Order: sequence, then structure tokens, then C-alpha cells
Amino acid sequence: MSRRILFFFGPPASGKGTQAEKLAEQLGLPAISTGDLLRRNNQLAGEYKAAMNEGQLVADEVINDLLVNRLNQADAQKGFILDGYPRTKTQFEYFYNNIIKPEDKACAIEISVSEPEVYNRLAGRRFCPQCGAGYHLIYKPSQQLGLCDKCQTPLEQRPDDTEEIIKERLGLYQRTMGPLVALWWQMGELVIIKGEKEIEQVNNDILESLEEDGFLKLKPEII
Ligand code: AMP
Repeated sequence: MSRRILFFFGPPASGKGTQAEKLAEQLGLPAISTGDLLRRNNQLAGEYKAAMNEGQLVADEVINDLLVNRLNQADAQKGFILDGYPRTKTQFEYFYNNIIKPEDKACAIEISVSEPEVYNRLAGRRFCPQCGAGYHLIYKPSQQLGLCDKCQTPLEQRPDDTEEIIKERLGLYQRTMGPLVALWWQMGELVIIKGEKEIEQVNNDILESLEEDGFLKLKPEII
């Protein structure tokens, strides 16, 4: 059976996770985030806590094993949407040598967001430590500055949303994803979507380019 495989990637705060989830629902495919798989695995989440908190990458073999186990589940047999994988050339090669089959149809989607916009989005992000509600100083301000609308708790900033760590996360993204983008480009499997628009508009742009690419024609009845 031919599977449809989508890779979603983009800099921190590009909205790739949101878009991957939306498309998963529209296409009836599971969205699989390797970050989520790690966080939900108590043993690995404990073992790799420091690396994950500092935005460093977890070992390729650990990630590849986690992914293979997840892809063996029934819901992934018609295809899947990957969020946050591959992140290294070793993962890329592992996937193309061991997981993908000639009959599969794959497409990589980059949600592109400019560097200043990444800083704006991440540096303005706030959350409520009590109820978990999310805010943004510019895009989604709370009614009373610095206080949660729901429970009046003082809002906080995530430790990895500081300027210094954002710079590190962006640098790592550019260094690691640059070579992979070039490979997908050479293979003719790359689509770049501008991410500085409303969520719905970005979603429409993705659907349009997948349609143009013939990606949706494999199963037109599900959209
Ligand atoms: P994410 O939720 O995608 O931001 O991932 C959170 C963290 O999990 C990352 O900062 C890495 O430490 C780790 N991680 C997730 N996916 C991968 C991957 N494909 N390769 C290596 N580390 C990963």
C-alpha cells in the first residue's frame, strides 16, 4: 500500500505543530511529534531531561527506535505526519534507507518565519503556572498586564524563551536543518510556506500546494 508521508519543520514558534495537527485531522492521518513521544516516555524523558530543556538533540538511535515503534501502530499504516523528525542527517538517512518504500509519496513542508518574528513570538510568550493558560504580550495579551485572566495568578516566561536560549535554539535549527532542506530540495520533495499569516491562511496555503503537487490526489475522498 502506498503511504502518504509529510514532514513538518520550521524554526521554534513557526506554528509547525499547530499546522501538523490541523492537517492530520483533515487528511485522517496521525500527527507524530518525536518531542511528544519523548515527553510521554517517563524513562526517556527522565534520562534526557537536561538535553531537552536546553534544546540539545537526543541521540539518533533513541529517536529512531521510538519512531519505528510508533510507526508500527495500526493508525500509521496509511501514512503519517512527522513533526520534529528528521532533525539530523543520520535520522534523514535512516528514514530514507529503512522506513520509506518506493511506492510511498513523501513531501517536506517548511513553515518559514523570519528571525525577528521568531524573537517577537517567543520573547512575548507568557504562561500561567497555575492553570497553564497561554498568552502573548502582543498577539494575545491578558486583560490585566501580567495576570492570568482565568485565575489572576502572575504570569511567567518559559525558561527556554529567553533571548539567549532563543538564539541558541535558532542557531541549532539553522545548522541542523540547512543540509536536510538542501537534500529535500534536490529530491523535489520540498514545499516552503510563509508562516507569518493567520493560522487558517497558512493551512489553506499548505493544502493548495499539496494539491498542486499531486499529493492529495492519492486519496481525494478524504479531504
Ligand atoms: P520538540 O517538542 O520537537 O521541540 O522537541 C523537544 C526536544 O526533544 C528537543 O529539544 C530535543 O531535545 C528532543 N527531540 C525531539 N525530536 C528530536 C529529534 N528528531 N532528534 C533529536 N532530538 C529530538
